[in-house]
This record gives sequence, C-alpha cells and structure tokens, in this order.
Amino acid sequence: MASYQAFYRQSIEAPDAFWSEQAKLIDWHKPFSRICDYSRPPFAKWFVGGETNLCYNAVDRHAAQRPDAAALIYVSSETGQERSYSYAELKAEVVRMAAILQGQGIARGDRVLIYMPMIPEAAFAMLACARIGAVHSVVFGGFAAASLATRIDDAGPKLVVSAEAGMRNGREVPYKHLLDEAICLAKRPPAKVLMVDRGLHKDWDRVAGRDLDYAALRAAHMDAEVPCTWLESSEPSYILYTSGTTGTPKGVQRDVGGYAVALASSMKHIFCGNAGETMFCTSDIGWVVGHSYIVYGPLIAGMTTLMYEGTPLRPDAGIWWRLAEKYKASVMFSSPTAIRVLKKQDPSWLSKYDLSALKHLFLAGEPLDQPTHEWIMDALKKPVIDNYWQTETGWPILATVRGIEDTPIKFGTPAFPVFGYNLKIFREDGSECGANEKGIVGIVPPLPPGCLSTVWGDDERFVRTYFSLFKEPLVYSSFDWGIRDDQGYHFILGRTDDVINVAGHRLGTREIEEAVQSHSAIAEVAVVGVQDAIKGQMPIAFAVVKDPARVATPELAAVLEREVMAAVDANLGAIGRPGRVHFIAGLPKTRSGKLLRRSIQALAEGRDPGDLTTIEDPAALEQIRKALGVWRF
Ligand code: AMP
Repeated sequence: MASYQAFYRQSIEAPDAFWSEQAKLIDWHKPFSRICDYSRPPFAKWFVGGETNLCYNAVDRHAAQRPDAAALIYVSSETGQERSYSYAELKAEVVRMAAILQGQGIARGDRVLIYMPMIPEAAFAMLACARIGAVHSVVFGGFAAASLATRIDDAGPKLVVSAEAGMRNGREVPYKHLLDEAICLAKRPPAKVLMVDRGLHKDWDRVAGRDLDYAALRAAHMDAEVPCTWLESSEPSYILYTSGTTGTPKGVQRDVGGYAVALASSMKHIFCGNAGETMFCTSDIGWVVGHSYIVYGPLIAGMTTLMYEGTPLRPDAGIWWRLAEKYKASVMFSSPTAIRVLKKQDPSWLSKYDLSALKHLFLAGEPLDQPTHEWIMDALKKPVIDNYWQTETGWPILATVRGIEDTPIKFGTPAFPVFGYNLKIFREDGSECGANEKGIVGIVPPLPPGCLSTVWGDDERFVRTYFSLFKEPLVYSSFDWGIRDDQGYHFILGRTDDVINVAGHRLGTREIEEAVQSHSAIAEVAVVGVQDAIKGQMPIAFAVVKDPARVATPELAAVLEREVMAAVDANLGAIGRPGRVHFIAGLPKTRSGKLLRRSIQALAEGRDPGDLTTIEDPAALEQIRKALGVWRF
C-alpha cells in the first residue's frame, strides 16, 4: 500500500501532475489544455478548455457498457415503495425529464429550482439539468415559504420542479401550498412549475397556465432523445444555498469538470467504492452530501446508489442495516446525529443483519463525539470514518484516506487533510499555529477541484466572505476552529461565526432571529446554539416583547412561545425552530451596542459568561440567568 503522506505531498507540491492523473477517472469530450488557471486569485478554473458533462459521466457511459446494472434503487419506508432503475432505465428517465425541460424552453445556463422530497424524480431532474447544461438549485424540502422565496429571487429560476407532498414519520409533509406561497412572495417568480403527483395528497390546487403535469409530459416524451450538451469545465453545474453570518443565504456555485474529477477521485480513494457495488447515503438531496454522495458521486463511480425516504427508526431501528444487507451496501454514509439516535435503541439491531459487504461507514456534517464514534465502531465491527467538509467544498477536507493507506483511526478526529487541500491552522495574526495550538482552519488557495468557484451572482461576496481573514496571506476561511496534534490528526472545535449546526444541518442564528422577529409581538431577539445530547446543538431564543402584558403570566408566556415557534416554522421551516423561547426585559449588549452572544451562549450551556468589562447593563445577564433558572455558578 502506498503512503498517504507521499500521495498528499504530491497533490500539494505537483498539483498539475496529480490532477491530470485524477482527471483520467472521468470521460472528456474534448481534452483540457491547462490543469488550473489561477491568474485571478482567489478564483480558480480547473481543467481549462476541457469539455465534459456530469450526466454523461454519471449515467451515459455506464448505460453504454453495463445497461442492465442497477443504477438507482429507491426505498421509501414511509410509503412502502421500492423501485429499481438499471443504468439504461435511469438514462431513459433522465432523457425524458430533459426533453420536458427543453420543451419548456430551458436551455444551457438557465436555472431550474428543485423543491422535492426524496423520490427518484428529484434525481432525474438534477441529472436532466446537468445533461442540458441548465443550472439546478435544489432547496431542502424542510424550508418554508419565505426561505424558499429568498432562494427563488436569488437564483431566478425559469422553472421549478416539485411534488405535492413528502412523508416523514408517517405524516404527510405538504410541499405544494408552501411553493405557491413562496411564488407569491417572490419578486422573480418562475414561469412554470412541473408537478410530480405522488398521489399522497388528494386535492392540491393546480394553477392554470403555470403548473404542468409530469406524468402527462413524461408520457408524451417516452421515446425522446436528448444528447448531452458538452460544457466547458468551469461552466456552472449547480447552485446550493447555505447559511452564514448574515440573514441572506449564499448560493454556492459549483463547476462541471472540477466537481466531476473531485467526486471521482474521492469515490476511489476516500470512499473505496467500486463499480457494481452499492452505496447507501442516508442524507437528503437538499444538502450537499446528497448532491455529492447520493446522486453524482456513486453514479460517476458506476455504483448502485440507494436512495432512501424515511427515518432510521421506522418501521424499526433495524431498517438501515436491513437495507444494507439486502442491497449488499459496501459504502454507507450518515451523520453523527443519526448514530446518536440509534445509540438509544436496542444495540442488537446492529448485529441482526449480514453486513459482510460493508467496508466502511462514513460520518460527516457535524462533530462526531468520541463516545459515539467508539460505540458505533464497536457495534458494527467496521471502520467508521469521520470526515469533515462543508457545502462550499463539495467533498471532504479532512478524512482518513483508506483507499491509499489504512492509517489508524483515532476517536474524536476527522484525521488528515485530504489530497488537494493545502490546509493549515492559523493564528488570528495570520501566522501558522504549532502542534496542539488552537487556531482557525484555513485553506491556502487555489481551492482544489470541486470546491465552490464563486458565490452565485456575487464574485465580490465570494472574496469578501471567504478570503478576507487576513490581509496577508490570502487564505480561505472555513470559519471553524481547529487544532492539529503532534501526530498530525486534526480536531474541529466549533465555528468562529454565528452559524450553528442542528442535527448536521447548518443554520445561521441571524436567519432564525429574523424568523422569530416576524412575529409582531417581538421587539428584539438573540438566538444562540446550545449543546444538545442528540442533535449536537439546539437553537434557544431570548426575546424581548414590545408589550410586557403579553408575557405577564407563565400561561401567557407559554402561549406566545408557541406562537413564536409557529412563526419560525412558517418562515424558515421546523428545522430552525428554537427548543425554547425565553422572554426577558433586555438583551445583554456592549456599550457600543454589540450583542454579547458568546456570553449568552455560555450561560445557556451552564458555563462562565467570560469577560464582561464592556457590558452596558449587567442586569440583562441576571435576567438570562433567571430565565434559565440559573442564579449562580
Ligand atoms: P455544511 O456546510 O452544512 O455541511 O456545514 C459545514 C460545517 O459543519 C463545518 O464548517 C463544520 O462546522 C461542521 N462539520 C462538518 N463535518 C464535520 C466533522 N466531521 N466534524 C466537525 N464538524 C463538522
């Protein structure tokens, strides 16, 4: 086996040689003339002049060689449906969807927003966009109307693909009326909506002249032929919105060629997934993990991807392992929160099934605590690989790269920088930290292939947000604190900004605050993330009401708390709902009016609030202590 260190060093010291070798993992219609154009830092263009297509690499090339091999298996434990598509069948469905889109005037560079539950048609829509060079923007189905409207306005889609409903925990999750509301709110509404009718919700409203019926259009395009549009490597493939410090989500823009190469090399070297094997990734297509490792990654590798609608506990806590046995999954990918949920169940569920095909379980999206890591490795008797990355990067930044070397797994750390990432830990003055010294995790640009090429429609925001950590050197900020021990293992110690991570989902506290303030009774609010045993973090709100009479009694306060939670559900979606809304008379601020968010968070987690020399009104902290039922330490 090769040495990981040597492999990594080559990627940093001789990137052209390294990436030209990796680029052979995908098919190119026209070869590239240059590996990386970095003439306009920090913007990097990978595989310049090369022409390729994500759909061709994910679908067509396998359909030509192994048409009958299973490409996508769909299982819904919510509806009891199970469907399987061979590569030939997947290609036919994608081509039909592409023909429908073209029939609606969608062409290269046009945006298509996808707001869908976990159904195969969502993957068809993504691949169909990739096929014709349209730019998809998938919005997680848990987002409510106002959040969806913000994304519609930023992306400016010509068409939205949606379905009338999803299902979660046996309950219907309505989509259509949220979409209708979002389109009403949007300043740049789409001309058309393509509706997949799952038959879950009977009488949903159709808007005449706008809403199109997928089943009818599919039938009309049964034998369609739509060739792949060859795209220059750095043309945009998709936009995926993610939260940051401000209330306005950023559209992470991905390219075509760099992303395809990064995914292909990650499938081989990190995930050890081979053509003909099955990958089971439990994420949702609304998140980056779903884009990279439910849809594009496993298909580019010629694997069977298992797409799952449901929770880890229904019909019982054995469902994932039963599916892994049935479909002989060799690669599984999930989140620490899901494992903490399973840890509360009878451990015998994990030993009931034949998991002999399974090589590794990968976990990402939030910190994997040591006890959970140890527990799952012991229960599964398989290597469990913690990997650290972000929506921005599209594929792992830190991981154990088992396809190259079986370096020992250490609990509580996602281990080493992945090939291509010149990762360093920086002090706040821009100098580099030594071993065991906490600092900011940064990546020295150019960012490797696959990472965001810019913020959609806003190059300046891309530079300002990610590359303004120091005047010198130019560094991409991950907004995470980290530490490297003397053996080179990296530990991630939480965010440097106001982003919180709830069950692996990234939310900006500003976004939640805006949703809380959409309730007319609220004058001011601070939202902080506090530690939660299952979800990692949970948002907690401290709100000041305009009229104290609204919270004069515990009963009235409880009513208002419920109303505020409902306002968050309606504006942002239930994923952002605070665990508690505490009502207080004033928020603790510095004399210059800056919210003492870190002190509030410390108090909410039962820690010391830290340096309070700049506080304007110390009584405000007492209020928070009182609201939390904590008077002294
Ligand atoms: P997202 O863009 O939603 O994937 O969130 C990315 C953020 O999640 C990172 O910046 C980290 O704060 C956190 N994160 C993701 N994976 C890990 C991991 N393996 N360990 C610790 N934190 C993680």
